[in-house]
Amino acid sequence: MNSGRFLFVPKSTREARQMSTLHMRKASNSKQKRKSSRSPRREKRILSSVGIANPRAAVAKCIATAGESFPNATIDLVADPSDSYRLNLLLWDGSSATVAPRIEYGRSTYEPMALEPTLVRTMQWPKCPIEYGSTRNLFDSVLGLITRHVEIQDTSARLLTYFVFSTWFPDRLSLAPGLAILGPADGEGVQLLRLLRCLCRRSMLLAEASHASLLSLPLHLSPSLLVNRPMLTRPLRSFLSTSNRRGLGTVKRGKVLEVCCPKAVYFGMDEIPQDIASVMIQIPLSSATAQPSVLEDGTLNDITAELQGKMLAYRLANYSRIRISHLHGMNFTHQTHEFAINLAACIVDDAELARGVVPLLKEQDDHVRGQPDRKLDAAILGAVLACLHEKKSDWVQVKEITALANTLLRTQGEIVEYRPEEVGHRLDGLSLGRTRQNEGMFLLLGRDTSRLVHRLALGYGVSWDVNSVPACPDCKALRSGANSVLM
Ligand SMILES: [Zn+2]
Repeated sequence: MNSGRFLFVPKSTREARQMSTLHMRKASNSKQKRKSSRSPRREKRILSSVGIANPRAAVAKCIATAGESFPNATIDLVADPSDSYRLNLLLWDGSSATVAPRIEYGRSTYEPMALEPTLVRTMQWPKCPIEYGSTRNLFDSVLGLITRHVEIQDTSARLLTYFVFSTWFPDRLSLAPGLAILGPADGEGVQLLRLLRCLCRRSMLLAEASHASLLSLPLHLSPSLLVNRPMLTRPLRSFLSTSNRRGLGTVKRGKVLEVCCPKAVYFGMDEIPQDIASVMIQIPLSSATAQPSVLEDGTLNDITAELQGKMLAYRLANYSRIRISHLHGMNFTHQTHEFAINLAACIVDDAELARGVVPLLKEQDDHVRGQPDRKLDAAILGAVLACLHEKKSDWVQVKEITALANTLLRTQGEIVEYRPEEVGHRLDGLSLGRTRQNEGMFLLLGRDTSRLVHRLALGYGVSWDVNSVPACPDCKALRSGANSVLM
């Protein structure tokens, strides 16, 4: 798909090579080519990736920028590997990247906008684009990092991954989704924020955040604000609940400030006021029994170097292709609907993955509606899973699923009996489409259904022993994947 379009240097030597190339090119300011064993074409591409400011441009008038988007090119801010207090500009022409302190494009010369040096150092910046394979590859890499380093339910880990993607396109969305991370494990909360810092665009990890201090930040850069246990004063509450919609600003000392930016806030066990709860996706942290390994700085640096580069490449390749469009099979409240379409819009070239955000937001939506029918959904998924594993037939009647789900619920102390019609509606809500036959409503037990049911069942915490069904390909995938601990 996008393979080969970006400069790509083998992982082990990538960092060293790009750094040295940058140093050399800047120091000599010449067009001398590096000797290398690469093909001439690749060599050319790599060399063109580290462009030099045109000397003539130095005298021309410079436009200080935080990023530009042209019909066939993009300019973005990137790190200066030789000085963590400064930034470079990157020009992407659709096939190759040029990194330099100044960039000439069209009839103008651009330079990075002036920012407080300590701010530059605190914020996370990519150095250059790195090839990421496919959207699914990149999604799985981010998801894998989250599940490896944070004790968290699959549904939450997936939502976090969609959130990470959305932080790379705040300027293309109608709403910048925010996260409210909840849970008793302080260490876990901070670990998750530290990991998000490596993954999100222009991220900042803030130990303390007052309304005034947040407004003093360059919010027009749409930084990803990662906030640990803030003191919820009235102004901060108001800021958190009103700053997720693009185009809405706030007035400070006669100036209109753009305040819309992605946010993830760890609230611990504090109760979240309704005005914030209704505008943020809630991510519960598991009360972990097994302590995940603490992320060392070295590991974080490695993750940052790789993922910031890959996410930048993803942004550059897909910036103009981000479209907010309707998603089928969704019966959400307005707020959840907006979360879903904005998160899905950031997943390009993989419609199934984009739609995958819908079932993940179901619980949030139930919460908003005050309809806690998650228990019924889990029972239905358990019932369908049992039918899939029995392999009696390629179809199952909704009546049969209902009987099985009711039995499962009875074993959990539930006394309400659900009717096939209610179960049918829940199946629709889970994107498990029914088919009408002469004998009644049926669910087709194909591979697509199987994959979806396994994924949903994991997210809903349905317990089953993946090892007891050796013939099931989807259980097999779970066994070999990171989720095999879930029984
Ligand atoms: Zn299975």
